[in-house]
Amino acid sequence: MKLAIVGAGVAGSYLGNRLQENGHQIEIFESSRKESHWPVCAWGASKNMLETFSKDAGLKFDDYVLHRGKKLRMDLPNEKIEYLNLKGLVTYDKFKWEQDLCQGLSIKYGFHCKPESDFLSNFDYVIDCTGFHRSLLPRSTQDFVIPSYEYLVENVSGIDEFYVMGYKGARGYFWFFPLGDGRGYMGAGDVDRKYYGISEFFEKNPNARILRKIGRPIRLSPPKRMLPFHNNNIIGVGESIGCVFPMLGEGIIPSLICCNIFKDVLNKHSIFDAELYEKRVLKKFGYYDDVYRIVRLKMDGKLSSVKHFKLLMSMYRNMKREEKRFGFGIDFEQMNRLLKAL
Ligand SMILES: Cc1cc2nc3c(=O)[nH]c(=O)nc-3n(C[C@H](O)[C@H](O)[C@H](O)COP(=O)(O)OP(=O)(O)OC[C@H]3O[C@@H](n4cnc5c(N)ncnc54)[C@H](O)[C@@H]3O)c2cc1C
Repeated sequence: MKLAIVGAGVAGSYLGNRLQENGHQIEIFESSRKESHWPVCAWGASKNMLETFSKDAGLKFDDYVLHRGKKLRMDLPNEKIEYLNLKGLVTYDKFKWEQDLCQGLSIKYGFHCKPESDFLSNFDYVIDCTGFHRSLLPRSTQDFVIPSYEYLVENVSGIDEFYVMGYKGARGYFWFFPLGDGRGYMGAGDVDRKYYGISEFFEKNPNARILRKIGRPIRLSPPKRMLPFHNNNIIGVGESIGCVFPMLGEGIIPSLICCNIFKDVLNKHSIFDAELYEKRVLKKFGYYDDVYRIVRLKMDGKLSSVKHFKLLMSMYRNMKREEKRFGFGIDFEQMNRLLKAL
């Protein structure tokens, strides 16, 4: 088939690679210019899954790993501290990974696509991989995003492990994700836009040098709230249809899982079965809606461990089942302590 992929982020790059390999004719359109294209992300994810995605795309994930996490320190309100045992959480060179996925693909940079862009009618299907922007699909009335920004910094001393600070009411968090050699991503997502922790970081690290400041909101509403996934010959994949884990704002692996669902459905029949795609995405990410409800209840100060026990159990059971995909140990007692402390 002749397919246009709009957006050369993690979903667009991986999908382009996999679909070209399957014999489809692929053209990618990316709005940013080649010189300034950069993955807006803190580059943290579980290597357990990325090894498989990389292998499928002909890459060796070890070549991209920047830092292998051992323990993540989490500062919580009222001076409580928790440590997560890391079981595969790493940072990796996401820029290089995406560039390498795109080797041999035709990419047109500086093309900001709109639903009415004429040239898109030359394709059998147009895939909306525009992430948060969801540029080609109709808006969802249930969309919910959290504002965020971060710095790429170097010359950082005194911190060389994953660190987060959770804000009261789960309204966001501050992060430092190490990239090795005194570099890291430091930033915050915060519903209230206070971004507590960022100026304190610079006070504690006066020698830290800023290499980049980047940001955009992160979508927290899960697929169930991001319908429709398709409109005429346009189909959404990745964050554009809510493939982000709502508790963490973590979207790399969910977007890649979504790409594989799209690829399987596309290769099944000669015509893309949009209903089957929708069904499979909703099934795979079904419990993300429970997690999203927990987050929103917590933000509104309405989460009760008794009244919402079923929701909490659903989150725990599903996360435990997918422990490898998260890259850290999932423990019921700790999850409860964390939610109570926030
Ligand atoms: C500050 C921040 C930190 C994050 N950190 C992490 C993390 O550490 N780990 C994690 O798992 N997730 C993280 N996320 C979330 C994760 O980055 C995203 O969920 C994931 O990248 C989504 O992939 P995507 O391919 O769907 O969209 P994106 O990676 O956002 O790619 C979308 C692409 O589409 C392009 N585009 C947009 N509109 C148009 C248009 N109209 N025409 C052409 N091109 C267009 C954009 O320029 C972009 O290149 C973070 C997000 C933010 C904002």
